[in-house]
Amino acid sequence: MSIRTDILAAQMAALGLGDKPQSLINGALVDGAGNPVTLIDPYTEQPLTSYADAGAEVAMAACIAAQDAQPRWAALSGAARGQVMQNIARTIIDHAEPLATIEALVAGKPIRDCRIEVAKVAEMFAYYGGWADKIHGEVIPVPSGHLNYTKREPLGVVFQITPWNAPIFTAGWQIAPAIATGNGVVIKPSELTPVTTVALVHLAEHAGLPSGLVNVLCGLGPTAGQAAIEHRAVRKVIFVGSPETGRVVATAAAKALKPAVLELGGKSANIVFDDANLKHACLGAQAAIFSGAGQSCVAGSRLLAHRSVHAELIDMLACGMNDIRLGDPLDDATEVGPISNARQFAHVGDMVARAKSDGAQVLSRETKPETGFFVPPTVLNGLLNTDHAAQTEIFGPVVAAIPFDTEEEAIALANATEFGLAGAVWTNDVGRAHRVADRVRAGTFWINSYKAIHVSSPFGGSLNSGFGRSSGTDALMEYTSAKSVWLDSAVTPRIAFGYVS
Ligand code: NAD
Repeated sequence: MSIRTDILAAQMAALGLGDKPQSLINGALVDGAGNPVTLIDPYTEQPLTSYADAGAEVAMAACIAAQDAQPRWAALSGAARGQVMQNIARTIIDHAEPLATIEALVAGKPIRDCRIEVAKVAEMFAYYGGWADKIHGEVIPVPSGHLNYTKREPLGVVFQITPWNAPIFTAGWQIAPAIATGNGVVIKPSELTPVTTVALVHLAEHAGLPSGLVNVLCGLGPTAGQAAIEHRAVRKVIFVGSPETGRVVATAAAKALKPAVLELGGKSANIVFDDANLKHACLGAQAAIFSGAGQSCVAGSRLLAHRSVHAELIDMLACGMNDIRLGDPLDDATEVGPISNARQFAHVGDMVARAKSDGAQVLSRETKPETGFFVPPTVLNGLLNTDHAAQTEIFGPVVAAIPFDTEEEAIALANATEFGLAGAVWTNDVGRAHRVADRVRAGTFWINSYKAIHVSSPFGGSLNSGFGRSSGTDALMEYTSAKSVWLDSAVTPRIAFGYVS
């Protein structure tokens, strides 16, 4: 272990955690008893720390703790729940630096991005804390004369599974709406990036969150994850990750007759018309695919440019690549860090090699740091939309650039994948902007912009990008169910026997 191991241990100590990842069950930090998991620093490729998989037993304890704590939390007034959530938001801000440092070290994400994501998590708790006392049903004018009203009730315990690309951001994105609506939570972050999720919940408990309401599992999917999906206390599964694992998780949930939300991957089209401001479109295209080293579900991984500007845009992108600052995630100046882990690094390398053998011209930045899982920003030119690299999620800083001739063709190409997560159009023709926004299949679509998301706006996809929605008021619906209450105030019952008419 290295100096970076010491930095990690010091930051964990500053947040009240032990020196290695531990699950957080009923307010206590707990070691697993399963197989060892070693976290590798993606910048040095050296071991950072290791821990034992939580396994099924700890997962079951987590579900029971959430089940025990949830009714008391749901019985609080919405205002009281909201107050705790505002306190959590402030506590996150107060501890932003150690949270951001741990995220940068473990996930390999530039610290400047981590600081923004931590601030966004505080915003999520503040936003949903504001909703906690404003969640109510309707009075429905049924024809029978009954008073019929609905209530939005918490589901009970929900199980959330999150990936490694934006660990604390995704944890806040899911935990905040779940607890605002009165649910208990078991959350399993990726086994590769568990620390900031544990830290977040630990801090939340210091800010007044009852112990046991939110429990964190440090461990593997097939052991800890599978056990939690199957546990009787769990009423819904919320999964954020790859389509392959999403299928496994949704199948396990369906077998136990539990609903699921799936937030999966994408192959989003970033469409540039010849009337667009090309400088803005180029900056947008860089942000869309190179920021976060392309490890973003909404990455603009297909750049569809009008044939008359295709070559110029690629030149601009290739030129701009050399100005992007690649480096140590802990360095304030770094704009793009390494790929987060060895498995993903190998996948991105394989995808580029295959694209090359499929005939792509590979345009890459010339230099990269000597150590670390770095993939230089890369443009694949000369591929067809049907080629493997244009259809498969790469999840790295690699964009397939494909020309089109007409608006109709651009829309058809954008929709010709198995995904439906996001997309964008760059044009100065307002009518065209709306026509394209209407017709491209995507849960999120940007006009002359890319990657803008906010906790107040719904987010999700269709087809292989999943189903259900996170964030905004849609998440309040996902984390509650409607109860319909009928009251008969007539002197004699309106229906002694039979149906209401
Ligand atoms: P992954 O599917 O490999 O893992 C996601 C999570 O599932 C991890 O916590 C993992 O431990 C868990 N898991 C694995 N097997 C399991 C099992 N049998 N039962 C229960 N849980 C199990 O994904 P990843 O590689 O961590 O993340 C990258 C993927 O996530 C990409 O496809 C990306 O597009 C997607 N993603 C989607 C969104 C979105 O909101 N749509 C956001 C971020 C990332």
